[in-house]
Amino acid sequence: MMEEIRRCAEMILDAKKVVALTGAGISVESGIPDFRSPGGLWTRYDPILYASLESFMRNPERFYEMARELSPTLEHAEPNPAHYALVDLEKMGKCDAVITQNIDYLHQRAGSSLVLELHGTYSSGHCLKCNKMYTIEEIKVISENNTRVPLCQIDQGVIKPDVIFFGEPLDSGVLGRAAGLASNADLMLVIGCSLEVYPAASLPLYTRKNGGRLIFFNTTTTVHDRLADLVCLGKAGEVLPQVVKACKEMVG
Ligand code: NAD
Repeated sequence: MMEEIRRCAEMILDAKKVVALTGAGISVESGIPDFRSPGGLWTRYDPILYASLESFMRNPERFYEMARELSPTLEHAEPNPAHYALVDLEKMGKCDAVITQNIDYLHQRAGSSLVLELHGTYSSGHCLKCNKMYTIEEIKVISENNTRVPLCQIDQGVIKPDVIFFGEPLDSGVLGRAAGLASNADLMLVIGCSLEVYPAASLPLYTRKNGGRLIFFNTTTTVHDRLADLVCLGKAGEVLPQVVKACKEMVG
């Protein structure tokens, strides 16, 4: 492992444009379960029933039933050493942007300056009728006084959280910017991603196609490991701080 940490630090120091792509795995050590590991969210909630746009439009109550279980976990989660390691890399000029699949806002809370949220955010929502914006705190208050589904205070429209549901297109502006950053990067750090959700999973290919290198950080091997120049196995919250430490030691 020490050899991998050292190689990883060398690759980061060699690179001029580094971006990170993060998935649910980076927040597991903050107490937020990922989707596909045993015991993860989707082993208990079928995504087609609970988090697809079609089922939300048909029966928003079902989504909010899952949200009631997940909300306290999201609210109490704090950034972990992996989130802070990316902030340290940014300060060293070695992380230009964080492209994330996560909706938990932990990169921003840790202090990363440029975070592109491919799958939206849980920190706000909108009325499906009049588009009025609500913060998560406001949605919570409405939910407490209201029925099982939070409704807009102006026209009683259903409030939909600003997360991208399965079957919903990604924000083209955010995706375009992420694709540009991925294409221009000469190194992408892919952290806690199963790379099973598209189009996010194609971003490392953009980096690769333009001659950039890829380092995967994951607790397990994935079917996409052959794409990577280096695979660092271990918990992101343990491995990434060691990588940052090695970078600092190498620059002296
Ligand atoms: P995923 O659940 O499909 O995969 C997570 C990956 O992280 C797995 O490969 C797993 O082996 C790895 N992992 C688990 N613990 C780790 C750790 N401590 N360190 C390093 N790696 C670890 O997640 P995904 O690829 O991000 O994609 C699925 C979808 O899940 C995304 O659309 C995302 O929006 C959503 N999601 C987000 C959150 C969140 O916001 N925190 C939580 C669950 C799911």
